Amino acid sequence: MMISETKARDMIAARGQALAAAGLTPGASGNISMRIDEGILVTPTGMRLGALDPERISKLDQTGRHVAGDKPSKEAFLHLKMLAQRPNDSAVVHLHSTHAVAVSCLSDIDEANALPPLTAYYVMRVGALRAVPYFAPGDKRLADAVAAVAAEHRAVLLSNHGPVASGRSLEAACASIEEIEETARLYLLLYGREVKLLSQEQMDELQRRFPD
Ligand code: ZN
Repeated sequence: MMISETKARDMIAARGQALAAAGLTPGASGNISMRIDEGILVTPTGMRLGALDPERISKLDQTGRHVAGDKPSKEAFLHLKMLAQRPNDSAVVHLHSTHAVAVSCLSDIDEANALPPLTAYYVMRVGALRAVPYFAPGDKRLADAVAAVAAEHRAVLLSNHGPVASGRSLEAACASIEEIEETARLYLLLYGREVKLLSQEQMDELQRRFPD
């Protein structure tokens, strides 16, 4: 059962406010999208996530054409690619949250999982955070790079840029990206220290107890 467009607009504005209040949207960065019956809603360009006017949130049709609301974010293509590759998901969040961006700038991260399995919540809410190579804003190759891995990964980290998380619900996508930011912070706090990571056995147990 798809959520109504009016309700979806209100949910995006409320979540935008919460992400901004948590300090996760430096400047006017960050964007949110949600699937609706006739296309997707995505936050507009130049509008702060903490001060969204629900009625001005952009609406794109199934082909990505802008049909209502303000002009969409320049990063709307990231959302379209994720949602196109993940038909069971209904929302995507992208942030330039400080600690996740810092990790995206490290040269020694594991491309298959940019953050190690430090806690059970990271493993449950994020799984593996796939790193995607750097491309300049607006470069179409970034869209292709995200499209290539999105079917297999609900969360990706754009190098020297920031995280993108997809979810069954807007709440799930937000929980995932908040967990990425928190885990990135822990990772940087622990950087250079001897760390106990969750073992494969411990991760398998989480998968058994909390299948997604
Ligand atoms: Zn961005």
